[in-house]
Amino acid sequence: MQSDIEIANAAVLRPIREVAADTLGIAEEHLVPYGHFKAKVDIGYLTSLADRPLGKLVLVTAISPTPPGEGKTTTTVGLTDALHGLGHRTVACLREPSMGPVFGMKGGAAGGGWSQVVPMTDINLHFTGDFAAIAAANNLLSALIDNHVHHGNELDIDVRSVTWKRVLDMNDRALREVTVALGGHANGFPRSEGFDIVVASELMAIFCLTESWADLKKRIGDIVIGYDRSTKPVTARDLNAHGAMAALLRDALAPNLVQTIEGAPAFVHGGPFANIAHGCSSVMATRAGLRLADIVVTEAGFGADLGAEKFVDIKCRKSGLRPDVAVVVATVRALKYHGGVALADLGTEDLDAVEAGMVNLRRHLTNIKDVYGIQPIVAVNRFPTDTDVEIARVVDLVAAEDVRAFPATHFADGGAGARDLAEGVLAALEGESPYEFSFTYDDDLSLTEKVEAIATRLYGAGLVTWDAKARRRLQRIERDGYEKLPVCVAKTQYSFSTDPTALGAPSGHELHVREVRLSAGAGFVVVVCGDMMTMPGLPRDPSASRIDLADDGTLIGLS
Ligand code: ADP
Ligand code: MG
Repeated sequence: MQSDIEIANAAVLRPIREVAADTLGIAEEHLVPYGHFKAKVDIGYLTSLADRPLGKLVLVTAISPTPPGEGKTTTTVGLTDALHGLGHRTVACLREPSMGPVFGMKGGAAGGGWSQVVPMTDINLHFTGDFAAIAAANNLLSALIDNHVHHGNELDIDVRSVTWKRVLDMNDRALREVTVALGGHANGFPRSEGFDIVVASELMAIFCLTESWADLKKRIGDIVIGYDRSTKPVTARDLNAHGAMAALLRDALAPNLVQTIEGAPAFVHGGPFANIAHGCSSVMATRAGLRLADIVVTEAGFGADLGAEKFVDIKCRKSGLRPDVAVVVATVRALKYHGGVALADLGTEDLDAVEAGMVNLRRHLTNIKDVYGIQPIVAVNRFPTDTDVEIARVVDLVAAEDVRAFPATHFADGGAGARDLAEGVLAALEGESPYEFSFTYDDDLSLTEKVEAIATRLYGAGLVTWDAKARRRLQRIERDGYEKLPVCVAKTQYSFSTDPTALGAPSGHELHVREVRLSAGAGFVVVVCGDMMTMPGLPRDPSASRIDLADDGTLIGLS
């Protein structure tokens, strides 16, 4: 089989104005084209659609991720193609890839095989410049902070307490901790600082949760950059930074429209981390999709304990959006891995391991049904080494949970390979859901109780413990009036616990909170459990060493 980039480079693309008109009924005058195959959809036009009814929302999530990969993005695209092929007006909503992983280990994030969004290389590299705009706005605030201190520090900012960091869209561990303003008087007051990757920034989370320019500016104004010397929070509004920052993001806030290899429409917009932020593409794009199409298929990051939890408890809580169905991506290989099989042996048939690994999928399904109250469907994303008996066993095991599972071969066959899955989704959308949507916790609980609700109801934890420093920070956040915010748990995606090697469905474990961070503009409190990387490093053999520009201008080596 051809590689992802070979398939993507050989795809024949239609002009985006034709895709927009034919698939979503968007007239050319409402597009802001970036070349022939990418366009932003004008915000004024989207606002004018406010009275349109909303379509159905399909959330793609997964079992706990494993090293071989599950294929949520690929399945989101394959399912969109299948629904599109069946004549349903459908749009995918995906995150924009970060260039950090593109040049690092994971590679791009435009799907795989015959289920990709194109132009794949453009989407993976720079795209329409949204991340550059977010980085510029973020770094403008940093410059304004240091400038304010330099010119007399009227706000009495305690520079030791500044938590707002500079960002760039690259994996660069050398920038994790730096000292700025060295070199004498003219360069300001030296202080320790650090860089995060753009997708880990609060500004990225704000960008993805906001729905208007006015709300964008308000949220940016609410950002707490640190504290003054009487420990009062200092906001971006105090620095009068919010107007200029919003100005830099004006155009970026319009969703980006591209196409799948099969010509279905896809919004690719925003891309927050799924640990320190909520890990979903923009509300702007989701809402636009729901107004323009009958069905929106969108992906949340990591497994259903993290990405889907944040989709429900942060994105849905804030936007009022409600998923109608959750498609849970599982693979035979991931089930075997959770069932104790070593990475190297995943290609060997092993029904007992499939059954043992089912504990992981079962807990996710239970959470989705009983905690989030969403009807789940399992997509078994088929890999070449899976055997028919293994696939049949997964379908049976899932059926025992009162859930339907559909094997799908969209990676190899495009939308036609996900036709059964699409029909299963349609049947679920047409029927009455036996479940009633709900959040994991109420706004009124204390921040501590919210964390406990997530830990015990979703993770199967026995207790939550706190570092003394995290406790103190939590008290300060409550004192400052932020106790009604939802929480955003940052923990390993590989396990229900904080131990990445505890596969399957661990129970009774301790969730230890190491650190607490306030994201007042985004509107959540980040609760850090375990190590969290907000500036990744490059691996010994980075993808960058394989990416190349051929003499004829073709880009190669992206995956
Ligand atoms: P996720 O969104 O869950 O991180 P992706 O959809 O990005 O996963 O897929 C992860 C990797 O696995 C990609 O390189 C993709 O090409 C590959 N992949 C996905 N599904 C299949 C499949 N059925 N067979 C082979 N490779 C696949
Ligand atoms: Mg993905």
